[in-house]
Amino acid sequence: MQQLKAQDAKQYSTFRLAATLAKVTLLSSLDELKVYQPASQPLLLGEGSNSIFLSDWPGEILRYTAAGVQTQQDDEHLLLHVEAGHNWHQLVSQTVQEGWWGLENLALIPGSVGAAPVQNIGAYGAELADTCTYVDFFHWQSRQVQRLLASECRFGYRDSIFKHQLAGKGVIVAVGFCLNRQGKAKLNYKGLDHLAPDTNPTDVMNAVIVVRQAKLPDPAKLANCGSFFKNPLVPVAQFVQLQQQYPAIANYPQADGQVKLAAAWLIEQVGLKGYQLGDIACYQQQPLVLVNQGHGTAAELLQLIDLIQQSVFGKFQVQLEPEVRLLRHHD
Ligand SMILES: Cc1cc2nc3c(=O)[nH]c(=O)nc-3n(C[C@H](O)[C@H](O)[C@H](O)COP(=O)(O)OP(=O)(O)OC[C@H]3O[C@@H](n4cnc5c(N)ncnc54)[C@H](O)[C@@H]3O)c2cc1C
Repeated sequence: MQQLKAQDAKQYSTFRLAATLAKVTLLSSLDELKVYQPASQPLLLGEGSNSIFLSDWPGEILRYTAAGVQTQQDDEHLLLHVEAGHNWHQLVSQTVQEGWWGLENLALIPGSVGAAPVQNIGAYGAELADTCTYVDFFHWQSRQVQRLLASECRFGYRDSIFKHQLAGKGVIVAVGFCLNRQGKAKLNYKGLDHLAPDTNPTDVMNAVIVVRQAKLPDPAKLANCGSFFKNPLVPVAQFVQLQQQYPAIANYPQADGQVKLAAAWLIEQVGLKGYQLGDIACYQQQPLVLVNQGHGTAAELLQLIDLIQQSVFGKFQVQLEPEVRLLRHHD
């Protein structure tokens, strides 16, 4: 166990707003977690690529860093048991390079394996739920690890049981995956559709990387947390009305009858693509991403969020919800 005091929040969030974190505890094994007795409920943090500190954080912060991988394989399948502290993209690139299908469309998503089930990370027509078999969850109350099968995790669009019934109840310690030797490439996204249907997982992963690098800012160079808002889901009736008014409206019909709209398109339509407020900006190449150009403040970020939400609602009557976790301590 390692306990760090008075930490600079810029090292713990890829959005890098200025703040001080009073106490960060790093636990590197399940044995350490089992004997850890925090004074108050800790805030869980992975690599901070979906978390923004809007204020100083006086409470305890916990990072579970165990990162081991166990594998079992036969001719057709690779079963993986991956501890939560493992880096997500490393897992993707290693399995893809070994020729396994399953994670290739999810390449280059920043963050840890432990955070991946929380919002059921997704990109380019794939999501964690497609390959996840189980999530091992340590409960604070019982101090036991429960194995939740994927079917019990209530995975949805950027959603899972870990954001609801199990929020604050414990720690994801490991995630299970099943990958396939034979697979079918998911290529129905712009930027991947030039690949031949009989391509291999490495080519798909490389194409995903090229598209992502062209569209998304690298958080190491320009502070950001990826897509800032979720793509909103609207009922068909509302979509039909919107389409009559705006025939070019980007839309993705869902299995449950709702229609997913592209938040980036909505933001562009209200003229905020590239808009800058202080040192926080709506990224020119991808308006769904907000960036901190170096010295942005929480007040500027909150003002820009408000402006975007109000402008989009004013024009389309659609409410944008942040996908990013905004952390503000209230005294
Ligand atoms: C450039 C960029 C691109 C991105 N692209 C995508 C994308 O294409 N698709 C996508 O889905 N996301 C994307 N994201 C968002 C981000 O990568 C994911 O949300 C990722 O899963 C966050 O991982 P993290 O470890 O950084 O999580 P953190 O921000 O540290 O935490 C995120 C959430 O997970 C919880 N958590 C973390 N570890 C644990 C644990 N062990 N047990 C229980 N809860 C835990 C935290 O409490 C928090 O609620 C992008 C982000 C960036 C910066």
